[in-house]
Amino acid sequence: MATTQFQAPRGTQDVLPEDAPYWTYVEAETRRQAHLANYGEIRTPTLEYTAVFMKGVGDATDVVEHEMYTFLDKGGDSVTLRPEATAAIVRAYLQGGMSSRPQPVKLFTLLTAFRHAAPQRGRFREFNQIDFEVIGEADPMADAELVALQWRLYTALGLRDLSLEVNSIGDRVCRPAYIAKLADYFRANISELCEDCRRRLEINPLRLLDEKKPECQAVLNSAPHSADNLCGPCLEHYQGWLGYLDAAHIPYTVNPRLVRGLDYYTRSVWEILPRVAGAQSALGGGGRYDGLAEVLGGRATPGVGWAGGIERIILELKDQQAPVPPADRPCVYFAYQTDAGKRQAFQLAERLRAAGMSADLAFGDRKLGKQLGSADRIGAQLAVILGEDELANHTITLKDLRTGEQKTIPEDGLLAELRPDHGQTV
Ligand code: AMP
Repeated sequence: MATTQFQAPRGTQDVLPEDAPYWTYVEAETRRQAHLANYGEIRTPTLEYTAVFMKGVGDATDVVEHEMYTFLDKGGDSVTLRPEATAAIVRAYLQGGMSSRPQPVKLFTLLTAFRHAAPQRGRFREFNQIDFEVIGEADPMADAELVALQWRLYTALGLRDLSLEVNSIGDRVCRPAYIAKLADYFRANISELCEDCRRRLEINPLRLLDEKKPECQAVLNSAPHSADNLCGPCLEHYQGWLGYLDAAHIPYTVNPRLVRGLDYYTRSVWEILPRVAGAQSALGGGGRYDGLAEVLGGRATPGVGWAGGIERIILELKDQQAPVPPADRPCVYFAYQTDAGKRQAFQLAERLRAAGMSADLAFGDRKLGKQLGSADRIGAQLAVILGEDELANHTITLKDLRTGEQKTIPEDGLLAELRPDHGQTV
């Protein structure tokens, strides 16, 4: 403990300024895509009462059973740091009366989520998600719009070679019979399943399909497919969804073993993966959750949504060496000599900032040459020099840091020089 108590907690990380452009880039593109498809922003608390996730996500899921940060607050209420967004957003939809607005309600959010699992590359205990939801709509075109939006976002960010996997896991009409069939099949082949699979078979046979252990693959690969066991309305929905994906030219692969980890999913499920996929590489996934609102005490309300992991998207952008716009550089750097020069530099820098131009200058009492070195290092476009000569002559010297060209102008001419149209009004 002694050596780690002043480090970020295990599984969390700092984003330092040099990495911030990735975050701004992903967040700005998310907002742009949300606007393009008319999704409104929602923000919900970092904490919820624990029941929202116990009921909403399902108390037999890995997330709820093993990974939640749950504690009693000082008032004795059990609260949980949100492990995901959907259950909380549906809670807010119900509580905020959004069910009586024109339907559907299309929402997005950027959030921090918490899951206490073993940290590894791409898996953190505190991580950030992009989340999109369409609540109050059963039309499979909603599922397709969400997938198309996610695909467009990732592509617009510059990610290449992604794969989209889709499946349908049915609803409460057809799923119980499918699960029973699946369980019968697994029981008939139990000797070829690992310990974990045998245990999970008794809790949720669907989850076995997620298992990656090589020794179980033969049995799992031959298991009955949910999509072959859909009731009429689920089949029609599934075919409708795939038809819209075809219409939008979104390439997908059917993965009959895709089930996803949270209990609330019904019908459509999907995941977007990099082509070189590892255990923790899914860049996002989603699905339909037609039963969730009811579980949270509302009327039966269809819904569909997806979440993508921002850390994983950024890791993938780096792996693929996708170009990301650099951080904005200050345009002007002031370099000065003497106290009077420093005061004048400060005054001018503040005027530029007030006029909407970025400016920087050194604190302390560094030599002029050092200050100009800083101007180069931070990538400023222009150095404004207020040296002893300039002060004596009531002038300032401008140095274009890209070309090295220099010129001297009267001391009151800076604003007009920088912004010929606006200089007079500042
Ligand atoms: P889920 O809510 O489990 O469907 O996750 C949606 C997406 O969030 C995943 O596809 C990942 O991109 C990301 N994600 C989930 N859990 C983690 C985690 N522990 N660390 C980083 N990213 C995660």
